[in-house]
Amino acid sequence: KRKTGINTDALVASILNKDITALSRAITLIESKNPKHLEKANTIIKGCLPYSNKAVRIGITGVPGVGKSTFIEVFGKHLTAIGKRVAVLAIDPSSSITKGSILGDKTRMENLVKDDNAFIRPSASGESLGGVARKTRETIILCEAAGFDVIIIETVGVGQSETTVHSMVDFFLLLKLAGAGDELQGIKRGIIEMADAIAINKADGDNLKKAKLAKVEFNRALHLYPEKSSHWQPKVTLCSALKNEGIDAIWEIILEYVKITSENNYFNTKRNEQNKFWLIQTIEDQLKSDFFNTPKIKSALKNQLQLIETNQTTPFAAADYLLSINN
Ligand code: GDP
Repeated sequence: KRKTGINTDALVASILNKDITALSRAITLIESKNPKHLEKANTIIKGCLPYSNKAVRIGITGVPGVGKSTFIEVFGKHLTAIGKRVAVLAIDPSSSITKGSILGDKTRMENLVKDDNAFIRPSASGESLGGVARKTRETIILCEAAGFDVIIIETVGVGQSETTVHSMVDFFLLLKLAGAGDELQGIKRGIIEMADAIAINKADGDNLKKAKLAKVEFNRALHLYPEKSSHWQPKVTLCSALKNEGIDAIWEIILEYVKITSENNYFNTKRNEQNKFWLIQTIEDQLKSDFFNTPKIKSALKNQLQLIETNQTTPFAAADYLLSINN
């Protein structure tokens, strides 16, 4: 049998040399379902880890249609124009359900795709949110080792994925539209609370007046929240991704955030907290998947589910039983 022939040392060296093909190959290994690939992936991640931790990690969210891809394209182009290298990753929980994705199809961000200083990687697919999240966390490490200065992690504003993205970024940017109620925009109060900045997009043409009003409203709403432990007062700003207006101002806000939170040490504290969170999260995910993938449990679970259906046991008794036979 032929060997797969993946030399992990060489791959790490190439990644550190900013070789994008090597980076892509390594990410593919991270995303693989083949245990041998995962073993290689872990070696590569370990090799890259000492060179990671250097980028600014930015989460961007907003409902479909708010202008995320348009925004990320002009924002990314702005960053490369000022000499930054930008990686764009996505967390798309929809892909595991619908097998299609709301985010990350190749036709988006056409200009940024062509930019040598940008790297765009669509969301891993066919996975649970936890699985996609873990792969993205690992991909961040590789991208940082490959010398990217800014990592953008995009997610769509539905469900749990914002919380996941928030737990892996330094700065969380929420894109909003003027004039749509929060219910309409499908964004819960908790998401607003997570935001370090709210950018009201499509602040152009007839929309500008409405956008200015929305800015006042959001500022008022944000001031009702207690002060964050970062001592950062979230900013509200207007932009037009389409007209490329207000984009540089958002980067300035992020730089200010990094400066303030670095000075008061919140920046590092948050990263440490995130790392601890991910340790626990990974263990939980692993235990869960080990448990449910044990053949003995699989068949016993089937039986217990039947017993529940016919009212012969309670969910708690069934759980106790299943947990006990696993030992
Ligand atoms: P996404 O689903 O959040 O990624 O949104 P898209 O970036 O695909 O944008 C959805 C639509 O809104 C597209 O037709 C864009 O051209 C349009 N759009 C995006 N940004 C702006 C903006 O700043 N102003 C206006 N007027 N339209 C925009």
